[in-house]
Amino acid sequence: MAPGVGPLPAALGPDAAADRSGGRPGAAADDCVDVVAALEPMLGAIPARSVVGIRAGLRLFEWTAFPWRFSRADLAARQDFLRSMEGAQAGWRRDLTLMLKVLSGLAYGNDPRVQRAVGYEARCAVNGSPAAAPAPAASAPADDAAPLGDLEPAGLGEECDYVIVGSGAGGAVAATVLAEAGHEVIVLEAGPYMDRRSYPEEPLAALRALYRDGGLTVASGRPAIPTPVGRAVGGTTVINSGTCFRAPERILDHWVREHGIEWAGHLDPDYAQGEEMLDVKAVDPARMGRNGQLLMEGAEALGVSHGPLRRNAGDCTQCSSCPNGCRLDAKRAMHVSYLPRAATAGARVRAGVEARRVIFDGSRATGVDCLAGGGGSSGVRARRFTVRARRGVVLAGGAFGTPELLLRSGFRSPSDELGRNLHIHPACWVGARFDEEVRGWDGVMQSYAVDEWEDRGVLLEATFTPLAFGGQWLPGTGIEHQERLLAFGNVASTGVHLSDRSSGRVRLGGDGALRVSYRLTREDGARLAFGIARAAELLYAAGAREVYPQISGIGVLPKARIAELESSPPPRPALRLEAFHPMGTARMSADPRRGVSGTDGAVHGAEALHVADASLLPSSIGVNPMMTIIAFASRVSRQIAERAS
Ligand SMILES: Cc1cc2nc3c(=O)[nH]c(=O)nc-3n(C[C@H](O)[C@H](O)[C@H](O)COP(=O)(O)OP(=O)(O)OC[C@H]3O[C@@H](n4cnc5c(N)ncnc54)[C@H](O)[C@@H]3O)c2cc1C
Ligand code: SF4
Repeated sequence: MAPGVGPLPAALGPDAAADRSGGRPGAAADDCVDVVAALEPMLGAIPARSVVGIRAGLRLFEWTAFPWRFSRADLAARQDFLRSMEGAQAGWRRDLTLMLKVLSGLAYGNDPRVQRAVGYEARCAVNGSPAAAPAPAASAPADDAAPLGDLEPAGLGEECDYVIVGSGAGGAVAATVLAEAGHEVIVLEAGPYMDRRSYPEEPLAALRALYRDGGLTVASGRPAIPTPVGRAVGGTTVINSGTCFRAPERILDHWVREHGIEWAGHLDPDYAQGEEMLDVKAVDPARMGRNGQLLMEGAEALGVSHGPLRRNAGDCTQCSSCPNGCRLDAKRAMHVSYLPRAATAGARVRAGVEARRVIFDGSRATGVDCLAGGGGSSGVRARRFTVRARRGVVLAGGAFGTPELLLRSGFRSPSDELGRNLHIHPACWVGARFDEEVRGWDGVMQSYAVDEWEDRGVLLEATFTPLAFGGQWLPGTGIEHQERLLAFGNVASTGVHLSDRSSGRVRLGGDGALRVSYRLTREDGARLAFGIARAAELLYAAGAREVYPQISGIGVLPKARIAELESSPPPRPALRLEAFHPMGTARMSADPRRGVSGTDGAVHGAEALHVADASLLPSSIGVNPMMTIIAFASRVSRQIAERAS
């Protein structure tokens, strides 16, 4: 795609790579980045339907300039074509270009030679700790320890009091509460167990190993919104940014009033317990790195409300690797916090076991039918595995996994709300180039917030993204993009998060696979544009030279055009968004006509079946949800335990 500006190596597509190597796959990789070879292993992790879509898109791109083919043109013609595609009126041309850019950007930024040329280094080492490294979480495993015991599913099936599907923020807490109440608990997790001793070093390998669909779970719509979720023992907490918020009071009041969740008004002790367990503390501005400090300085200059984020990673000071698994396990993700505690109380965790159906006896849930020990690219055939639950089934597969499993099990919610009310906090990455070196990777990945516009649903968080992900957010294509990439060390970035009134839906396609759709309303599109405008003002106030708003057709947003962005917001499909907080798809409501689960997490219309994860949250929460999911799971499982005693 590009020849390699300055010290950057050239990037080669399929044909060029084959020419350079005389047809030998991977052979061109000595002095050039063979992006296809790097992406190839990803294909096994992403859904077949997406692979077909990507292939069709690439083919269309190749032939859009018919009668000549993109890959056969000379460099100058390809560069012109890319520029024309990126600036095209027709949205589909821009979307195709973006797809190509994202895929090749992932592969290119993943390459150590590119990282060296940019000066990028994720400083935490997998083995051995660098100077001044934060202490690992108290329960992080010693080098030879198996902290959760035997993770292998035994034989063809097992039995317990409660089976919990999913080991993330909700499932790990439910397992701890129920096991400590004296119940026999089994936790089933579709993903593998990994920790600081085994996280893959390469971002692309981490996507394959630790994320559902290789990280390419997408909410379809205009715009389509990538909404990645974790798939590992510890769930999404293994790859999240560790930011810890309590829900705003007005949201909790709303849940009390609208959904009859009386206890939502008294969650402080639940939050406090979770915070103590995860050692939550505010980031120290002196140690958070320039990325957070620049947002802080912009906020001070403009006189808006701001403050350091609270996180569950102790005094960690490095390194923008959170989405690949914290290389020090300084972050108290579930597999190094709640799950070891649950295991100490006797809970059995089973990794690589996917629950396929809830087993019902009439309306009573009595267990789960699963597939164990296979799938992915392992080449091993998965075997059937059944868990019988004497007392009940607790679903904690997350806002995608829980409705997916219930729908696949043929369960019909009396309210017909199952899978609906999906909220995701659509988010936009706003980057900015400074004259000074920022080296965002030398700081805490997510560190500082501006909450001035929370009443408008907009929260800004200084978040630095690793090169493989952040690099492809820079504007331009080809050589122009590579020039910007070389300045990655001078880039700061801030996330704009929206408390969405828009909603989406989770359902099953004709092939039985997960489908996620989301419709961004005009009002929410305008509120996102408002948030982007505020982020741009803050970054300019901190001294930015140029700001990248992630709006198709506006690579760089000059200061003088900020007001225009607000007065005439861009069409919604032009917004380039991502989302990290799916919730609400089995929402809690005392009224069985309005929700899927009751205030004790019990699924309306079923017996001995509970939900304890992000699907419960009745509406968009507006702040990072992990601590509220923990608080909800703890309330739900305490009620289950009390009733059982
Ligand atoms: C990149 C990223 C950064 C984030 N940063 C933050 C942050 O800083 N702060 C914050 O508060 N939140 C953050 N979040 C969101 C937060 O981590 C999630 O909201 C939270 O972990 C959800 O908890 P959960 O229990 O509902 O589901 P998850 O934590 O997603 O756990 C669900 C688990 O269930 C498993 N599962 C699903 N279906 C099945 C099945 N059928 N059988 C077996 N297992 C199954 C999945 O594999 C998964 O491991 C982030 C999310 C992402 C993607
Ligand atoms: S920034 Fe994230 S990955 Fe790096 S040490 Fe801190 S918690 Fe761990």
